Amino acid sequence: MEAKQLQAYKQNNALLCQFIIRLSAFYEGFSDKIDNELGKLRGHLSGTPNFSLAAVSIEKLNNLIQHQDVTLKKYTSDTAASIEDSMKQLQKIVFEDDELKTLTTKELIKLNQPINDVYSIYKLYAKALTLHRVALNKKMVSLAPTEEKLNASPAEHISSISDGEENHTAPQDENPHYRSILVELNQLIASYAQKKPNDKQLNDIKDRLESGMDENQLLKSCVVILRMIVQDAMSEASLTGKVIQSLHNSLGQINSSVSESIEGSKSQFEQRKAGNEQLKSHIDSIEEAVSESDSLEVLKEQAQSCVKNLMSTLSEQQNNDEKGQEALVSLLSSMQERIETLQQKTAVYKKKLAEQVMQSRTDTLTRLPNRQAYNEKLEHAFSHFKDSGEPLAVAVVDIDHFKSINDRFGHAAGDKTLQVVSRHLKQSMEKHEFIARWGGEEFVMLFPNADIDRVDKKLNEMRTHLASLPFKFKQEKVRITASFGATCFHKDDNTDSVFERADEYLYRAKRDGRNRVITDLNN
Ligand code: GH3
Ligand code: MG
Ligand code: MG
Repeated sequence: MEAKQLQAYKQNNALLCQFIIRLSAFYEGFSDKIDNELGKLRGHLSGTPNFSLAAVSIEKLNNLIQHQDVTLKKYTSDTAASIEDSMKQLQKIVFEDDELKTLTTKELIKLNQPINDVYSIYKLYAKALTLHRVALNKKMVSLAPTEEKLNASPAEHISSISDGEENHTAPQDENPHYRSILVELNQLIASYAQKKPNDKQLNDIKDRLESGMDENQLLKSCVVILRMIVQDAMSEASLTGKVIQSLHNSLGQINSSVSESIEGSKSQFEQRKAGNEQLKSHIDSIEEAVSESDSLEVLKEQAQSCVKNLMSTLSEQQNNDEKGQEALVSLLSSMQERIETLQQKTAVYKKKLAEQVMQSRTDTLTRLPNRQAYNEKLEHAFSHFKDSGEPLAVAVVDIDHFKSINDRFGHAAGDKTLQVVSRHLKQSMEKHEFIARWGGEEFVMLFPNADIDRVDKKLNEMRTHLASLPFKFKQEKVRITASFGATCFHKDDNTDSVFERADEYLYRAKRDGRNRVITDLNN
């Protein structure tokens, strides 16, 4: 062999070896058989190459790669079909959401185009997964209105997901649906625990809630509580039914007594009228006797008999009158009795109703008035402000980083914190001032006829006092702070505009670092 030929042969061999090394790197881990065969081929070509063995190896590799190609194509088309299927399902679920509907339609169009390279299936797969997660989050958001960050648009979700953001919390912790059920259940239990402090089932659920429940147990507990509510509602309803029934009966009895008494009076009147007629006829007959009689003796006899008749008619009349009166007295006294029992029953019922009204306006966890009570109070205070022009200030308060209390120490610790903070805020208010739980870890306050300059100072005192309270969870001292925003009603304000202004100041307080009061009250 000539030197030149040998040189060319060596160069080609080196090129082939390089190519086979690249090929091995590419296929590594793809299939054991291909890996092995490529290893063998590398062996045949290294050192003193054995081209006949290399040719056998290349033939085997050819077959293996061909077979892999078929498998991959089948796998790709199967995956595309399954993605398409799940996208179609998703489209049915999100048909009311225009944005998601458009995004899923776009993906479906892509899926119907030929897939030429294997990587595009991964992209489609990733996109489909993202859309499913967005849809899932959106569904949950509608069930947990306080979770602000879940209100973000799908685009934000998609970018945050594709940024590779990872969350390492337990599934139930990142599930806002689970959280909102937990909050609701806690509140329901708090309200029923007051009504039924010794109920075994209730205490059982309470204990288990504190020590943690999985979603299955949580749902079972919800069913138990729901059953209690229904039972309670039924007994309330039957109480209402009973009162109305007895009211109906008593009114019916009174009605029949009154008609009896009218009937009695009528017949008494008829009797009296007949008695009077009789008396008149007796007197007429005396007159007749006097005018017609010529013998004194006869006259005397006739007069005596007339007087006797008169006497008996009169006494009959008197008898009737007395009987009528007695009947009337007994009728009146029985009516009075009935009315008294009716009054007692309605008083009990009224009390019960008042309790129910009170309950419906009280937040069960903190025992503060709830948002409905606040709205009613605000309407009242606002109309007084319009009539009198007396100053009226509104403040909103939001506990800082409250979520981290739940996350670090559990939901029960969060609840306890809410109760303590509520008590503290309530104690700082004067009698004519008003505080309600607006929802979650937010409170709202009204300061009617306020010395406006003082409200700012007062809110700052509340804030500093709250920050100094000694909270301790799991042996760890925790400082709880809150942010405040406040403003007062101006002439052209309405109840919404004032609240929005106070809320804006609250958010400014959050942005500026929390644990602060921002108002326009000193301007
Ligand atoms: P920021 O300082 O911005 O206000 O942060 P934050 O964590 O206080 O606010 P965010 O709105 O993120 O979280 C409020 C949390 O309050 C979320 C919700 O789970 C929790 N929460 C709402 N109501 C209750 C409740 O009744 N009990 C408990 N334990 N937690 C509640
Ligand atoms: Mg909040
Ligand atoms: Mg907060």
